[in-house]
Amino acid sequence: MSPGEKQSERRIEMNKLHCKKYGQRKRMEAIAALGGKCSRCGIDDWRVLQIDHITGGGNRKLIRTICRSKYHGVVVAEAQSGTYQLLCANCNWIKRYELRETGNYAVRPGGLDKRKK
Ligand SMILES: [Zn+2]
Repeated sequence: MSPGEKQSERRIEMNKLHCKKYGQRKRMEAIAALGGKCSRCGIDDWRVLQIDHITGGGNRKLIRTICRSKYHGVVVAEAQSGTYQLLCANCNWIKRYELRETGNYAVRPGGLDKRKK
């Protein structure tokens, strides 16, 4: 590998690291803007907190805005609108289960239950 190629690889790695840190900072800003804790159970461990689109469709918006850090910027800007809430991973899955947002299959105590479309 030539010195130019090594420098180019190092630049790419530094850029990835910068993007990762920037994304983490934007996520923390979004968590803070939404109150910093799960709306249901109150846990405040940022590692398990997820941004929930209250009426659903959060992923569609994320895909439309493409970049996750831009999505977090949208969440910060709309934090007071009541569009988003923070849920911990457990409460988010419970909500998905309650609203049947779990895909084509819902896991029930007796096994898988195929949903009708
Ligand atoms: Zn929770």
